[in-house]
Amino acid sequence: MSGSPTGAEAEPAVTEAEPVTAVDADADADAAAVAAPPPVLSVRGLSVRFRMRGGAHVAAVTDARFDLAAGECLALVGESGCGKSVLASALLGLLPENAQTAGAALLGDGTDLLTADERTLARTVRGRRVGLVPQSPAAHLTPVRTVRSQLEETLRELTGVRRPALREAGEAAAERAAFPAGHLDRYPHELSGGLAQRAATALALIGDAPLLLADEPTTGLDRELVDRTVDELRRHVGDDRALLMITHDLAAAERIADRVAVMYASRIVEIADAADFFGDPGPRHPYARGLLDALPDREFRPVPGMPPELSALPEGCAFAARCERADEACAVVPVLPAEPSSGAACHHPVAAALEASRA
Ligand code: SF4
Repeated sequence: MSGSPTGAEAEPAVTEAEPVTAVDADADADAAAVAAPPPVLSVRGLSVRFRMRGGAHVAAVTDARFDLAAGECLALVGESGCGKSVLASALLGLLPENAQTAGAALLGDGTDLLTADERTLARTVRGRRVGLVPQSPAAHLTPVRTVRSQLEETLRELTGVRRPALREAGEAAAERAAFPAGHLDRYPHELSGGLAQRAATALALIGDAPLLLADEPTTGLDRELVDRTVDELRRHVGDDRALLMITHDLAAAERIADRVAVMYASRIVEIADAADFFGDPGPRHPYARGLLDALPDREFRPVPGMPPELSALPEGCAFAARCERADEACAVVPVLPAEPSSGAACHHPVAAALEASRA
């Protein structure tokens, strides 16, 4: 595992007429350092296994690798049960006790989220350096306290705001997530699913954490609210902040993502620029292409078959049983290219064949 963030190192231009001095080289090195800050999050070889009764193991996440740069939104997409929410839980140190992890998940300051102790995670990471928009907001909110009370408590803890400014700050925090001020004095059980989601989003945004992790943030929302919610999340992304959005909603991903990572049967099988993925040339991995083709506004043709159980993954490519391009080469597990910025883990990628036929 590489302990340092990846990234191309700029080489200074050298000509015979103008030899580079030590001062020039230092200046170039300084410029490169300024041009390439460390990723907000660098995930390397992250795997999660659950030990089950009888000695069985569930391979929930296998060898995940990606970087997330400041100012960037990466959408991690895939069907339910592919492992993407387990990956989110691993990044927050919220896995159950029967989980075993491997690899690394480094914040920009070098903190490894997989090995940090609970005290560090609770005091300095969750809410402050990693904000979470949860998958189940109703379960995330405290049931016996109003939304206003929970917003004000989080504001006190993360920003130090005190009365009398607290009430106005709480209403401003609610407004950021389009939570209506008239509902602030309600308890979580008095909220619709959409309002509970917006309350949870408002809480997650308070700390202005460098990394915002949104786990299925649009569940239960109608399309208009989906758009408002993801637009608000996108606004969180700034010069020194990044967003990892985990979703099965490809329309939401297309709306806000800079890059897309597709997960299938515990592995990231494709990473691509969003414009390439949703436009031309389109996804390179057959499963990723099938996901897009299944959308109603595309071919409305579902991917045939079902994904394998994570407790009984097949040898070789886990998509082979559903893939019309499978052949004997696919008995060997395909891996993403070593450069983590883009590529597909496939022996016969689709777009590559299309590009070749056009040439
Ligand atoms: S590796 Fe083979 S089976 Fe797997 S997606 Fe690619 S072509 Fe299909």
